Amino acid sequence: MRFRSSVAIDLGTVNTLVWVAGRGIVLEEPSAIAIDTAVGQVAAVGEAADALADKEPQDIEVIHPLRDGVIADLDAAVAMLHAFLRRSRRWVGPLRPDALVCVPSGATPVERRSVVAALGVRRPRYHVRLIDEPVAAAAGAGFDLTGGAGGFVVDIGGGTTEVAAVAGWRVVRAVSLRKAGNAMDEAILQAARTELGLNISQRAARQLKMTLGVTGGAEGWAEAVGLDVAQRAPRTEYVPGGLVAAALEPIVAGIAATVHEMLSDIPAGLAEDVVRGKIRLAGGGALLPGLAGRIETAAGIGAVVVEDPLRCVVRGAAEILERKDKGRHGGPGLRALRAGGNAPVFPPARPVRCRYSSGCLAITGGSRPASSQPTAAATSGRPTRMMTRYMTGTFFSDPRPSSLLSKE
Ligand code: ADP
Ligand code: MG
Repeated sequence: MRFRSSVAIDLGTVNTLVWVAGRGIVLEEPSAIAIDTAVGQVAAVGEAADALADKEPQDIEVIHPLRDGVIADLDAAVAMLHAFLRRSRRWVGPLRPDALVCVPSGATPVERRSVVAALGVRRPRYHVRLIDEPVAAAAGAGFDLTGGAGGFVVDIGGGTTEVAAVAGWRVVRAVSLRKAGNAMDEAILQAARTELGLNISQRAARQLKMTLGVTGGAEGWAEAVGLDVAQRAPRTEYVPGGLVAAALEPIVAGIAATVHEMLSDIPAGLAEDVVRGKIRLAGGGALLPGLAGRIETAAGIGAVVVEDPLRCVVRGAAEILERKDKGRHGGPGLRALRAGGNAPVFPPARPVRCRYSSGCLAITGGSRPASSQPTAAATSGRPTRMMTRYMTGTFFSDPRPSSLLSKE
C-alpha cells in the first residue's frame, strides 16, 4: 500500500500541469480562477475560468494568479491549486503527500516561500519541495544529467523565457527574460489595433500567433474577428502574416540575442555537451512557427523543439521525483531547498495565527521589481481582504463545497 502519494506540479503563468505517481499527467489546465464577486465564491477554475476572461460577465472576476512565472496573487493561487489537486488525487494516505513544484531559477526566497505557502495553508498540507525549472526542463527534454553531463535549454512559457545551461542536475547559468508568449500576444493585439483599426481579444491574438508565427504560416494570412475601433461593431479581417511577423520580431530577436549571449558565457568544459546535445526548446512558445530556425541562426549551433514541449517541465519534474524515490540520485536537482550546507532556505516558518488556517507561512523580504512583487498576502502570510472574501465562501469553509467547483 502506498502511504505517501507524490505529485509533481508545473505551476506556469499560463498553464498548470499535475503529475501523480503511478498515474502520470492527470491535469493540464490554464492557470486561471474565476471569482463570483457578488458572493465571494469561486465560480470556476482552469479552462472554464479562462474561457470567461475577456468576456466580462457580470460579477465575475477572472484572475490569473501567476505573473512572470511566480505567484502574484497568493489567495487566488491557493484556491486554484487546491481545486486542481482535489481533482487530480484519488486518495491520500496518512502521511503528508509530497509535492515537487517547479519554480523559475531566478525566483526570490519570498517567491519560493509563497509557492510553499500556497500548498500549506489548506488541508491536505503538502510536504513541498522546489526544483529550478531549467533543471526539470532539461530532464524532460531528454538530457541525462548524471555524471556531470550538461545541456542547454530554452523554455519559452507565457510570462518568461528561461535560457539556461545545466550540468549534473544543477543550473550552471540561467537568465529569465520577460519576453514570452503573453508579450507576443500583446504585441499582435497592439499591431492589429494600430495597423488594422481592429480591437481583438488576447485569445484571437494567440490564435494568430500560433497560425502565423514569424514565418507567415502556410497561407500567408489568417482570419480574426474583433471590434472595429471606429465603428465599434464586430468585423472579420484577414490578417497578413507580415503584420504578425513584424509585431513578433522584437521579442523573437530578444530571445535569440539572449541565447547567443548565454552561449558566449558558458564554461569551456560545457561547450562540447552543448554542441552535441543541441539547444533544446521547451514550453508552449517553442511551437511558434519559425522560432527554432531563428535561434539556430543566432546561436550558430543546432536548435530542436523537444517532444511535446508543453509537458516538458512536468515530465522532467516527474522523472526527478521517480529517481529520488528509487534513490537513484540523492536529490541534487532539489538543491533549491537548501541554502548551502544543511541550512534550509525556508527557516522554520513563523506560524501566523489566522482565523482561516493555522498553516499560513510568515513571509518577509524580497528583491523583485515592484511590477512583479507578490501581493500583500504573499509577502505577509496574513489574510488580505481578498483572502478573507474567498475564505468566507463555502469553497473554504466547507470540506465538501457546494460552490461550482464541486459541480464540475
Ligand atoms: P507557462 O509555463 O508559462 O504556463 P507554457 O509552457 O504552458 O507556459 O506555454 C504557454 C505559452 O505558449 C502561451 O503563451 C501560449 O500562447 C504559447 N503557445 C502554445 N502553443 C503555441 C503555438 N503552437 N505556437 C506559439 N505559441 C504557443
Ligand atoms: Mg513553464
